[in-house]
Formats: sequence, structure tokens, C-alpha cells
Amino acid sequence: TRVPVITVDGPSGSGKGTVCRLLAKSLGWLLLDSGALYRLTALAASHHGVSIDDEEALVVLAAHLDVRFTTHDDVVQIILEGEEVTQAIRSETVGNDASVIAAIGSVRTALLERQRAFVEMPGLIADGRDMGTVVFPDAPLKIYLDASVEERASRRYNQLINKGLDASLGVIMNDLQERDARDMNRSVAPLKPASDALVLDSTSMTIEAVLNTVLEEVRHKG
Ligand code: C5P
Repeated sequence: TRVPVITVDGPSGSGKGTVCRLLAKSLGWLLLDSGALYRLTALAASHHGVSIDDEEALVVLAAHLDVRFTTHDDVVQIILEGEEVTQAIRSETVGNDASVIAAIGSVRTALLERQRAFVEMPGLIADGRDMGTVVFPDAPLKIYLDASVEERASRRYNQLINKGLDASLGVIMNDLQERDARDMNRSVAPLKPASDALVLDSTSMTIEAVLNTVLEEVRHKG
């Protein structure tokens, strides 16, 4: 039997991370956070003193990433080479390095099979940029989640402020636009909706509304 896969692609801050977590939970399916693999490669590079333009060394790191994902009471922990890096990979620096590394075709190829290995019964929610276009082109349900850059920046700003951190809306907006441009304009696996994706604009939707729309689609395809 075929394992069902739902792909969710879109730009940073579109809400796809949260939507994917809730989808996986409500369906009882596994979750692939593919962005974490690019972030882990970036962090491993920094730990090993590998420059983000050293293609050969990056490919070796990506192909041999020693990473474990563990879940206790719905909380995911990420262990890289025996060290807990769950928070460390979320920094802006790691995110930017990840997006630079992600433009290198051979690095993407090195991570391809590792991503496909996440497919397991009863089903997989795949979160990323090229899940529907490259990694799981045969997925029966593909979502592309978008939102205006202003809305995405303000969500990120509020997250940081709520954590008690300093933040500047202007800086966040600039970084987002730069990262989006890099992800959309690269020659390999650029961020774009698959031709058969359902495009949802979450700018004025709540997370619950997005979740319900996707669950409704799942029931239809059922
Ligand atoms: O989603 P997240 O912000 O964690 O992803 C970090 C970076 O990894 C993205 O900006 C993108 O460049 C890259 N990425 C990718 N393909 C994916 C997932 C992430 O190129 N499937």
C-alpha cells in the first residue's frame, strides 16, 4: 500500500511550520521539517569550520549528518553529533546560512534520500520549499501556503517580542525579503507552488482556519 504524503511549501513566516505540526498531530502522522536539515547542515559547517561556499566539504557534511529527532510529549528535540541543538538551529544566522547552502544543487541532492526516508505509515506531513515540486512530486495533496511580506514580518516580530527579545520590524522585513528572493530565484528547486498545489493565502486567516481548510481537503481526497 502507498503511504499518503501531504506537502506544505511556502516562504518563511507563512505559518506552515505551525500548520504542519497541528496537521501531523490531528492526523497522527509523521512530520518532516526539511528546513531543519538545511539548518543542521549550516550549523555543522560552522562547528567544523567549513565555509558556506566550500561546496565539496558541505556535500560531505550533508551526506553524513549525524542527527537524531526525538519526541517527548509532543516536544521535538534535535540532536546533532550528540549535542542538543533544538534552539541553536533557529537563529537568524543559521537560517541565512541555510538559505545560502540550500542554493547549492549537490547539497540538495545529498539530502534528498534522507528526506524520502521519512515516509512511513500511517502518513507524512512534509514541510519545506520544494516538497511538492521535487522531493514528493507524486503526493496526492499539495499545499502552498503564502502570506504578504508585511504580515509574515509582523508575525516574526511578535514572536520575538513575546519571547522578551529585541526586534526591529524593518530589519526583519529586509531579511525576509532577501531570503525569499534567494529561495525563489535560485536555479535548483526554487520556491514556487507545484502546478497541482492548492494555494492558500494566510494573510488574513487564523491558523485554525488554515488547518480546517487543509483537513477539509484531506476528507475530500480520502
Ligand atoms: O523553513 P526554514 O526557515 O527552516 O528553512 C531554512 C532555509 O532552508 C530556507 O530559507 C531555504 O533556503 C532552505 N530550505 C530549502 N528547501 C526546503 C526547506 C528549506 O531550500 N525544502
